[in-house]
Amino acid sequence: MLQNIRVILVNTSHPGNIGGAARAMKNMGLSRLVLVDPEDFPSAEAVARASGANDILDNAQVVATLEEALVGCSLVLGTSARDRRIPWPLLDPRECGAAACEHAGQGAEVALVFGREYAGLTNDELQRCHFHVHIPSDPEFSSLNLAAAVQVLGYEVRMAWLAAQGLPTKVEKFEVTSVRSGQLATMDEMELFYGHLESTLVAIGFLDPEKPRHLMSRLRRLFGRSAVNKSEMNILRGILTEAQKAARGEPHKRRDDDV
Ligand code: SAH
Repeated sequence: MLQNIRVILVNTSHPGNIGGAARAMKNMGLSRLVLVDPEDFPSAEAVARASGANDILDNAQVVATLEEALVGCSLVLGTSARDRRIPWPLLDPRECGAAACEHAGQGAEVALVFGREYAGLTNDELQRCHFHVHIPSDPEFSSLNLAAAVQVLGYEVRMAWLAAQGLPTKVEKFEVTSVRSGQLATMDEMELFYGHLESTLVAIGFLDPEKPRHLMSRLRRLFGRSAVNKSEMNILRGILTEAQKAARGEPHKRRDDDV
């Protein structure tokens, strides 16, 4: 499905941006790059910025006009750094990702068109698009770097594609910590606890400092998942203090304060 979506960069000045766009595409599973009259391509700078997405650059199609780049496409989405350059049907990036995936999923060809670094797309080019897409950036500073704009729309396409495939967007689901569970222990309190835990585990003979294996990192993962709050931290620290006393053979002191 994603092979039906092509990214078209019009008249790009900086080869680094072509490389950056190729990298962003490969990250998001897009592979078809079309360059309309690039100023400097092929280029070592593009390869450097592609950081390994060389196949995208090697397979990039270079054409002279936008018209040639659009051959075969039945949905053309043109991007603009400015909101409403000309009155035209507008999509936000999320709708753009959904429309691109839906169309591509039906076997049709889709184009995402990006403009020049300094001047964007011309009105004539924008009028060749079915929809315009604006990333809702701060209007005071609305223009993203070209490769960053490719990244944002590529991400939205990927999210829509994952949803269409029924694939998860995260590996594991963690419980969101409830504010009702009390004030959480801070990172520095957690670090003091891990130090205390480690020395206690050595003292009671559970952890061999010569062969620690991955015990402490596993315990960090366990407690990191637990969203320990401050009063729970007091309990844990109290247990460790008593365990250390026991290990030293000191008598138990019953805690009768409420924890
Ligand atoms: N000075 C130009 C800036 C172009 S930025 C102008 O005002 O049009 C280069 C390209 O990055 C744009 O043509 C567009 O394809 C993309 N881009 C940058 N910011 C964007 C945004 N906020 N929304 C959508 N596309 C954007």
